[in-house]
Amino acid sequence: MTTSTDVNALLPRLWPRTAMRHPDGVLRIGGVSVADLADRFGTPAYLFDEHEFRTRCTEFRAAFHDFDVYYAAKAFLCKVAVRLVAQAGLNLDVCTGGELAVALAAGFPPERIVLHGNNKSAAEMHDALGYGVGRVVVDSLDEIDQLAALARRYRTRARVLVRVTAGVRSDAHDHNATGHLDQKFGIPVDGGAAAEAIGRVLGSGALDLRGVHTHLGSQILDTTAYGIAAGRAIALYAGVAATHGIQLPELNLGGGFGIAYTEADHPATPAELAAQLRRAAADACREHGIATPRLAVEPGRAIAGPAGCTLYRVGTVKRIDGVRTYVSVDGGVSDNIRPALFGTRYPVTLAGRASAAPPAPARVVGRHCDAGDIVVRDAFLPADVRSGDLLAVAATGAYCRSWANNFNHTPRPPVVAVSGGQARVVVRRETVEDLLRLDLG
Ligand code: PLP
Repeated sequence: MTTSTDVNALLPRLWPRTAMRHPDGVLRIGGVSVADLADRFGTPAYLFDEHEFRTRCTEFRAAFHDFDVYYAAKAFLCKVAVRLVAQAGLNLDVCTGGELAVALAAGFPPERIVLHGNNKSAAEMHDALGYGVGRVVVDSLDEIDQLAALARRYRTRARVLVRVTAGVRSDAHDHNATGHLDQKFGIPVDGGAAAEAIGRVLGSGALDLRGVHTHLGSQILDTTAYGIAAGRAIALYAGVAATHGIQLPELNLGGGFGIAYTEADHPATPAELAAQLRRAAADACREHGIATPRLAVEPGRAIAGPAGCTLYRVGTVKRIDGVRTYVSVDGGVSDNIRPALFGTRYPVTLAGRASAAPPAPARVVGRHCDAGDIVVRDAFLPADVRSGDLLAVAATGAYCRSWANNFNHTPRPPVVAVSGGQARVVVRRETVEDLLRLDLG
């Protein structure tokens, strides 16, 4: 939550590195005034800070220099982002045919892509084999059989990882915790199901088993769970070595690294994360007497999240005496579902002018026909906030555009890339005509 004392401050952990307030009070991102952006491109708009995104890719690449690093496209995906990922030397994690199509359209090398999904369609598996996707993460016994049958039909061998649940509960929100047994992803290590799946892959004759994949959830700030998961995965590798006489060469530990949404959040740096995962895997391998496999991670939010902000314009301000001030903006749950789904608290600031008014509590809400349409539940904004003001919400680069929806037949906002004082639309604004075109009457 923004506190009452820092209403104009831009805490570096919460805002892109390029964010600064000009002496006239107007926020600049990527060297561009948000007032100019609002005039040129309208509001609401997602701002994509290319420098921040590129820098975060590079930081992960450097810190995890001895790992394979896959950017998780589900966090935020467009062709420009894909090209930045490629230039930074990262690989790409996709989980649908749609994400794969964007990656291929941007020219991303298929052999550097991993395909996820707990219920891949035949068409997605067909495309993965046809395009030569580097790794397919198989998520069930059914899928092992389906993929193996397809591979046999096409006389090819697919390189696969088996998605396992290591029985680890992280501090991720219930809606996206995926390391424990009682959820839809993965095959449990406990009870031998994962070992059975591995045997099934090895016996298929059509699948090239590279290792296993674990993913604990998202927005994880307490990173101890990664070490536990790595240890359990390595114990499984030791079992595979004993049973089948093979050393699995790779281990993918997934993504989930948290970012700061509030001043209270202190996420680990990529260097700290890499050191911790490297050490946990090495310790477990030593304990079990096996060689350390090639490790991989899949950061999504930690790369895209802080590289994005959302720009809104205030429509109405309603001051309910003795109760609360409601500041309504021109977007809401259609462009950011996360406050409703996860209760996420975002930083918000008055972005288009200076104000000397004292800070006052306010609730920033959207324009949708639902009382749960809240953008920032407990904000502090200058007491003179008024209709026509611009507000910027930070840390919306991950899981906002990618989770945007058309609630109330609202067209989705554009993505405007900003960099070095220049701005350009990289995903255009949807129009009502776009939506009507889908409705065949
Ligand atoms: N890898 C897998 C398999 C995922 O399911 C996800 C997200 O849910 C990620 C990576 C990326 O997670 P995050 O954006 O939290 O890093």
